[in-house]
Amino acid sequence: MTRVSRRAGAITESATLAVDSRAKELRAAGEDVIGFGAGEPDYPTPEHIVVAAVEAARDPRNHRYSPSAGLPELRLAIAEKTRRESGVDCEAAQVLVTNGAKHALYEAMQALVDPGDEVLLPAPYWTTYPEAIALAGGEPVIVPTTEAAEFRVTVDQLETARTPRTKALFFVSPGNPSGTVYPPAEIKAIGRWAHENGVWVVADEIYEHLTYGKREFTSMPGLLPELADTALILNGVAKTYAMTGWRVGWIVGPLDVMKAAINLQSHSTSNVGNVSQRAAIAALEGGLQAVTEMRAAYERRGARMYELLSAIPGVTCMEPQGAFYCFPSFEGVLGREIGGRTPRNTIELASLLLDEARVAVVPGEAFGSPGYVRMTFAVSDADIEEGLQRIAKLLA
Ligand code: PLP
Repeated sequence: MTRVSRRAGAITESATLAVDSRAKELRAAGEDVIGFGAGEPDYPTPEHIVVAAVEAARDPRNHRYSPSAGLPELRLAIAEKTRRESGVDCEAAQVLVTNGAKHALYEAMQALVDPGDEVLLPAPYWTTYPEAIALAGGEPVIVPTTEAAEFRVTVDQLETARTPRTKALFFVSPGNPSGTVYPPAEIKAIGRWAHENGVWVVADEIYEHLTYGKREFTSMPGLLPELADTALILNGVAKTYAMTGWRVGWIVGPLDVMKAAINLQSHSTSNVGNVSQRAAIAALEGGLQAVTEMRAAYERRGARMYELLSAIPGVTCMEPQGAFYCFPSFEGVLGREIGGRTPRNTIELASLLLDEARVAVVPGEAFGSPGYVRMTFAVSDADIEEGLQRIAKLLA
């Protein structure tokens, strides 16, 4: 018998949080670290949302347990928002309010996946997906994409990876860490393939409002109503409304799966904090003005980070299309002597950048794409200038 269960013992530390905490440690020790590691807006939550939360905290109704599935008003607001912004015909009963989209992901996998089921996961992928699949006993089947293909997976690749055990496909656009936004024609083709082959779609729409240039978000379940019975949408307020710390996310899906997920939540976390839920209602009902302004700043910063990265010899980078990440390849600098060390992979490179340049990035290994690093541009313009200058100088 093992002291720690095999299930929990097999989980790896979240690489994104690990880099961030090491950077924070160094900062706490007085070091001047530029952090491109964390994936969160650098803005405070908009004032009208904070005001709603303060009022909610004063209202004794919010001091009590509430329904596990979420406050009825919030479930309704989420259903309305999903109809409005994703084009999916759904009702409040199909919504489960969770402790962030990460928790939505965990519960979606618990409700959908049986031991031995395979789940298709295009790489690069968000680092938590394979863990959540494995925790449900499923097997992540990684489908690699390339920078040349702008990190988009094709139907042919998915068909090659499909087996009789394929239960579901993760579809994430805009993507983390790639910053890729799929065009509607490709979304349609992938969604049709999933439907024809009885493959569930888990659509993570958390970056829906962060697209740049001519790229626009398109919801796969919104585009293909025939997916209504075999698609789950994961989403939350974190990225759109600069609310990462409030921990409100949700799943929208068919009633049978949602019932199972709600039962699971009723025995694990119960309701999400009522004050946070009230804040989320204010966010969803308060319009998109704030995110429009933040998006414009991210777009400018992303373009600048891309420009500075592209000017470094040995580094290539796709211009970001969405989310708030650049995902450059550092293949061209691996194996070279830098600052007295010779990084052979991007884990070693990330540690070198932190030690020698005091710049935190997340190695691509965390996302199933060695050779790359993820750098968030949801940071100040000054940090982008300074951080990239430090990297360029170290690699010169
Ligand atoms: N999905 C993706 C693709 C993400 O990048 C993240 C956060 O980094 C999440 C979900 C989780 O968001 P939340 O903060 O709501 O748990």
